[in-house]
Amino acid sequence: MNILLLGSGGREHALAWKILQSPKINKLYVAPGNAGIGQIAEVLNISPIDFASVKAEVIDKNIDMVVVGPEDPLVKGIYDFFINDNDIKHIPVIGPSKLGAELEGSKDFAKRFMMRHNIPTARYKSFTSENLEEAYTFLEELKVPYVLKADGLAAGKGVLIIDDLNEAKTELKAMLGGMFGDASNTVVIEEFLSGIECSVFVLTDGQSYKILPVAKDYKRIGEGDTGPNTGGMGAVSPVSFADDTFMKKVEERIIIPTVKGLQSDNIIYKGFIFIGLIEVQGEPMVIEYNVRMGDPETEVVMLRIKSDFVELLDGVAKETLASKSLEIDNRYATTVMLVSGGYPGDYEKGKTISGLASVKDSIVFHAGTATTDSSIVTNGGRVIAISSYGDSKNEALNKSFANADKIDFEGKYYRKDIGFDLK
Ligand code: ATP
Repeated sequence: MNILLLGSGGREHALAWKILQSPKINKLYVAPGNAGIGQIAEVLNISPIDFASVKAEVIDKNIDMVVVGPEDPLVKGIYDFFINDNDIKHIPVIGPSKLGAELEGSKDFAKRFMMRHNIPTARYKSFTSENLEEAYTFLEELKVPYVLKADGLAAGKGVLIIDDLNEAKTELKAMLGGMFGDASNTVVIEEFLSGIECSVFVLTDGQSYKILPVAKDYKRIGEGDTGPNTGGMGAVSPVSFADDTFMKKVEERIIIPTVKGLQSDNIIYKGFIFIGLIEVQGEPMVIEYNVRMGDPETEVVMLRIKSDFVELLDGVAKETLASKSLEIDNRYATTVMLVSGGYPGDYEKGKTISGLASVKDSIVFHAGTATTDSSIVTNGGRVIAISSYGDSKNEALNKSFANADKIDFEGKYYRKDIGFDLK
């Protein structure tokens, strides 16, 4: 089978690594990829949101399946683009339809979906600039802190959590006034939930589903979960508090109603559902849906899938997922992200990366890297994810940390406390 994987991050490197373990794979192409992906697959220099170019490559390279890494092409409707084009409608795209991708593309859509299907989530109301006064009244009803969310995609920056009522009102007005462009024309205001978060990943063919390993990521730049949010500084799987009892609740109250809800709403969805969960006194609540795998969670989740991943993806494409087996590796998997100095603020690119060949006992996934004539250089905020197995969480983490010290580039930074809060 020839597969085209879209994307260029650590997530896509981990997906490519797993896909290439399958005896079913003939050739893997990744667009646009990065330096590390280029070492294991053929990279194509096209943008995942340039659907016409994607189509041309799919025909030219005899692609049998397209796997979509990031949310952008999904929210822009790549699934529908394929289905509506006679030349390529027979080629499966792993990902939801444009309507399904609204679960991530619009927080108001996601909240309405959860309400309709009785899926536990924070109490909320949505507002536009036309009902600002009502929005203020709703804020007054809530307790501190106040959670304000831009409805649309805002590169992970569209959620504000504010301790002061007046400040919340000021920020709300600014959001509705275009602070995040069109993304904040509608703002979701919701009640603050206090608890610990984890990421649950589900693969569905629209009929049945498989629950992939649960992971926890570490979003803040600073140790002890301090400082600004990042794309993610590391991840651990499994997650100690997401035990069988908790996961049974997640499956019954969240996963099954989600898959059934998609069916009853006639939403075509053949892909990954990423459920951002918070545990509130033992009870799971949904913080958000994403319509693709998480990054850096994929860099641990792929390590823990023993089964042939292409077989599972093929099951999604052919709606035979129920007949496929999903075997999970019981070992721990951890990943530690090396980032550029200054990230998530301004940072420089083009720094030479050394020490990659000296890594032992870990798997190196590239995120923001590029190749020059003579070396591999940094090309983004998040640069390298170092993933490791261990019989315990600490054994895996120690391997990741030891290799984090071996790889070097000017300004390198990583968090030394990934997994610190878990048993
Ligand atoms: P990202 O894509 O970066 O995960 P996002 O912009 O899609 O984020 P959310 O995931 O909805 O937005 O929110 C970002 C973070 O804000 C969450 O991971 C969580 O830590 C916090 N958060 C969101 N909603 C709530 C809530 N109701 N109560 C407490 N914390 C919340």
